[in-house]
Formats: sequence, C-alpha cells, structure tokens
Amino acid sequence: MATQTRIALEPDGLVAVLDHVRAHGAASRAQLAQATGLGRSVLTQRVDALLDYGLLAEDRVGISTGGRAPRLLRFRADAGYLLVTDLGATSTDVAVADLAGEIVVQRQEASDIAAGPDAVLARVEELFDECVAEAGVTGSLWGIGIGVPGPVEFESGRPVSPPIMPGWDGYAVRARFAERGVPVWVDNDVNVMALGELTAGCGRGVDDFVFVKIGTGIGAGIVVDGRIHRGAKGSAGDVGHIHVQAGREVTCRCGMSGCLEAFAGGAALARDAEAAAREGRSDFLSALLEEKGFLDAADVAVASKHGDPVGIELITEAGRLIGQMLTGIVNFFNPSLIVIGGGVAGAGDLLLATIRQAIYRRSLPLATRDLIVRRSELDDRAGVIGAATMAANELFAREYLPRWLAAGSPAGSA
Ligand SMILES: [Zn+2]
Repeated sequence: MATQTRIALEPDGLVAVLDHVRAHGAASRAQLAQATGLGRSVLTQRVDALLDYGLLAEDRVGISTGGRAPRLLRFRADAGYLLVTDLGATSTDVAVADLAGEIVVQRQEASDIAAGPDAVLARVEELFDECVAEAGVTGSLWGIGIGVPGPVEFESGRPVSPPIMPGWDGYAVRARFAERGVPVWVDNDVNVMALGELTAGCGRGVDDFVFVKIGTGIGAGIVVDGRIHRGAKGSAGDVGHIHVQAGREVTCRCGMSGCLEAFAGGAALARDAEAAAREGRSDFLSALLEEKGFLDAADVAVASKHGDPVGIELITEAGRLIGQMLTGIVNFFNPSLIVIGGGVAGAGDLLLATIRQAIYRRSLPLATRDLIVRRSELDDRAGVIGAATMAANELFAREYLPRWLAAGSPAGSA
C-alpha cells in the first residue's frame, strides 16, 4: 500500500469517488467525472491513488458508447473484512462481512446480556474466531462493528445506564477488542438494525423512516435524510419508555410507571401470559406452561394463531399500545415508512394489523396519506448487516479515511 500522504490529506475527491462506487457499483472514469464533478486530471489522480491503496480495482470492460470500450472501476469489497456482532437481550449474532457490508458467515446463539460484558464479549471473541476460520478470509481485518441492546454514547462507544444490561454501564467495549488492533464502533442495536434496513432491507432508497424493534424491550431507529438520527446524546428513539394509556399501572424496569415496554414488550407479554396460565384463564397457555416451565412472547404468538382468546387479547392490546406510541411519532416526524422488526414482530399479521389500525385511526390524514407500515424482511440479518454498514461507513467517512490512509491501513489508526 502506498503512502501518498499528500493525496490522503485531500480527502474530498477520494471520498466522493469511493462513495459513488460503493453506492452505485462499478463505473467508468467518465461516469465518475460526471457523478463527482471532479475535473479530468484531479479525477485521474484520485482514481490512481485509490487503485494504489487497493480500494479500487479496474477489471470489467464497460459498454462502449462508440470507440474503445471503457474499463470499469469497482470498489474492492474484498480488500479487507469486518467482524460484527448484534447483541440482543437473549441472543447473540456474530458475522464476518466484506467491506460492502455483505455477510460472508453468520452465527446465532442464545445468550443472556445480563451475564455481563466479560462473559458475553468473551463468547463473542470465540465466535469471531470461529466465523473467521469458516469464512476462509484472505484479506486482513479492517474494523469491528457492535450493536448492543441499550443506549450508547456513540463517540466513546460506551453503553450509558442501559436498563437491561447490568454491569455494562460505562463499560469500555472498544478497549475489550483492542488486541485485534483495528477501530471498533458501537451503537444501540436498534440504530444498527435501522441502518441494515436502509442498506439492504425495505428502507432502501427511503429517506425518512422509522424502524421499530419489538423484542424483549421496544426501541426505534430513526432515519432522517438517509442517515441515522442519534440525537444530542445518542438516546433518540428510546420509545419503549414513552408513557401510554393502558388503563392499568405497571412499573417498568426503568423504575417509572406506564411505559409502553412494560405492557407491549416481549418480556411483558411473557409475564402476562404466565399470569393468565397460572390463573387458569387460558387452557392453551396453561398446557404450554406445564410443558415448558416458562412462557415467552413466541408462545403468545402461537396461542393467538391457534385462536386462544387470551393470546389474541395480549397481541391485540400490545398492537394497540404500540400504535398509540407510533401515532405520536407519525404526527411529529411524518415518516413515509415504518418498519416493524424484532422477535415479537414475528407474532404474525394480527400484531401488524392492530398497529396499523391504531396509527390510521389517530394520526392526521396528511401524515398517513402515503404512509407504509410493514414488517422487516431481514429478520435476524438486519443487525449484522447494519453493524457491518456502520463500520464501513465510518472507515470510508471523510473525517476518518485520510487518517488511516496516511497510516497505511485501518489497523492501529483507531
Ligand atoms: Zn420505562
């Protein structure tokens, strides 16, 4: 890799060319000149530098518009690789991705975020090594992307008072991976999933949308003008703790009363289903509880699909309250799309239909005129794709790229 620091210190053209081929695929020099507005000599210089750095490759022959067919320049997604993990409250997804955010190998297993950072991240390290061995990657590691189920101060990569992550408050996640010698980015899992939807899911090409994760808890990732909106301190989208009118009082794990999550999150559904089973209000759930020893949100979904009245009531009520919260978001933010994801989103059409109904009934007509409410298609892949996209976006950002180009590689430049 060359050390042309003179060019590396002038990132504008480099980033513009890279951004174009990363977003739109291979392009000829003429197409790049048109897309970036760079003059011919500057463009040639930037392209040569990127070829030199190994970030671009010149291989395929494009379609001729008369004369010699132009060579196409493509982004070298295999120049390095990324390690990513999406940590949920009860599951861990780990993957190897290329620099375009494409997942090469993915592993998923049940886990408990409450076991604390040492235990959880030690297992992530093992899974990283297993995935790398399985992927048979030839390039070197360029970055690590991590999503965690709680608020994160993005600048420092530290979780801040995460309600469901005992032992993680202020934990230096980056330092934990320092041995690997590459930059590490950490964000809230819902932001990461929203980024996954924006890159490869139903949010592709949508500038303003909201991704709502309904898992153990409830949170939202907000995309404004095609970018994640993190807010002043990184806590934007913490919608699980918005107060809703449920007609009963339940104390949330955050300590307050009346939070959406305390009624409609996966943990709340499991709690209410177990109570109904114990009180003999649902034969279906009683039998399941007897068989398994516990109930979770998926059991509530199964019960509702079997026509069990308690299961239907729990899902309907959860949908109504989630819709109530989203009505406020729709009137305030006017998104064109709401994507519902997370484990409980798999509960089926009843949940989605109830959410839709609540939103349309209570939102202003102009806000819902072209509003689409749909379920995520990426499911378990949203988090890892988003974590890979986060790492790639940061690596190739104009604030960061010149630093590591000057150093020769991302390793050691964090
Ligand atoms: Zn709360």
